Amino acid sequence: MTFQIFPPLEIPETLAAGPGPGNTDARVLQAFAGAGVADHMQGDVLRGMIECKHMLREIWGTQNAYTFAVAGTGWSALDTMFSAVMPGDKVVAFANGTFSGIDALTLRIKAATPAEHAANPLDPQAASVTVIEVPHGKPVTGEIVEAALAEHKPKWAFMAHWETGSGRINDIRGFSDACERYGAMGLIDAVSSLGVDDFSIDDYPGIAGWASCPQKGLCCLPLTYAPVSFTDAFIDSLMTSGAYTYVHNPIFEARHWGIVDGQDVEKGTYHRTHSGYAVAAFHEALRLTLQEGLAKRAASYRIHERVLRDAVVELGCEVTSDMPSLIVLNLPPELAGREMELVQNCRARGFGIWPTLSAPVQVRIGILNQLNRKSVSRIVRLFAEAMRELGGQIDRDAIEALLESRYGTSMAA
Ligand SMILES: *Cc1c(COP(=O)(O)O)cnc(C)c1O
Repeated sequence: MTFQIFPPLEIPETLAAGPGPGNTDARVLQAFAGAGVADHMQGDVLRGMIECKHMLREIWGTQNAYTFAVAGTGWSALDTMFSAVMPGDKVVAFANGTFSGIDALTLRIKAATPAEHAANPLDPQAASVTVIEVPHGKPVTGEIVEAALAEHKPKWAFMAHWETGSGRINDIRGFSDACERYGAMGLIDAVSSLGVDDFSIDDYPGIAGWASCPQKGLCCLPLTYAPVSFTDAFIDSLMTSGAYTYVHNPIFEARHWGIVDGQDVEKGTYHRTHSGYAVAAFHEALRLTLQEGLAKRAASYRIHERVLRDAVVELGCEVTSDMPSLIVLNLPPELAGREMELVQNCRARGFGIWPTLSAPVQVRIGILNQLNRKSVSRIVRLFAEAMRELGGQIDRDAIEALLESRYGTSMAA
């Protein structure tokens, strides 16, 4: 191989209109780029981390002392949460799409005994883990959770709050209640709901662990900070069992955020090299969320999702999702089977929509951080144009009339 230095990498401006990441907020980018050169123990960096911890507790509606954020993306937070699951632990996991499917795999990896691991290292079949498969597009209901926990009485139960693979909202109330009733510690993948939905952790006492991400509802940069929150019961269990990790052990990781022995201390202590730039970005994303208010933001998502939903239905598509930040749809019969082609065409033009990542093939269009008339109208027009290119019958006037009727007089504009 010959040695070469490549030209500088240039990445164009695109419209991130998928399930996530969303378009990073300009204020967040400014905070990231504007941070001074500083190491991870510089006073303002440590103060920023502590302020982030307090803001995060406020946004997430919790008194959990162990509320902080893990360097990385959603999977980093999830791995930190799952680190408390030890080989042989009894687990029931509910999977109804791509992401909860990977979460269930992670749980099988964590709970597998050494022999089970050796037998199938990349896909261990852990006898102590029961995975309840709910079909793509269907929600995990309270009844499903109730029945499985009554039968298996596990130590841990797992569910995704919002399954982004199929755009499905799962019954978190039913899940929490069933966990309480059967003494299971609930674990929730809240990667796509935090910062979009208006909910409070402390309203769900059956849930012991929560994990989210920076770059979806919080509008921060990927690979900055992924929020987690754990109850005292979760931490007690971890204190007893330990975890097979240093960097993703919640007890060690929390120290850098000024959480020691379940108490807030004034200053964090070294755990790993945190990034002042990432802290600055995360801090601004949390300020943004608090300034806007979750109730207002959640209402705004519902309004704009409704417009996008009605517009794609007007275009002949069938919407199968119920998430306020994301539409999952089937193309009209005449374009069925051409989903990948359509998505590729859109992406080639800087309009970043997504297919589903597991069967069946569907199209996913998201509105993270696109909560205004101009952005949603642009998404609708770009999508209509892409359908027309493939030979779809598009009534442009009907689409414009729909947008005008929804936005013309409403506050949502
Ligand atoms: C996006 C997503 C993930 C993965 O998050 P990354 O930030 O890509 O690591 C996991 N679970 C759900 C429900 C998601 O939406």
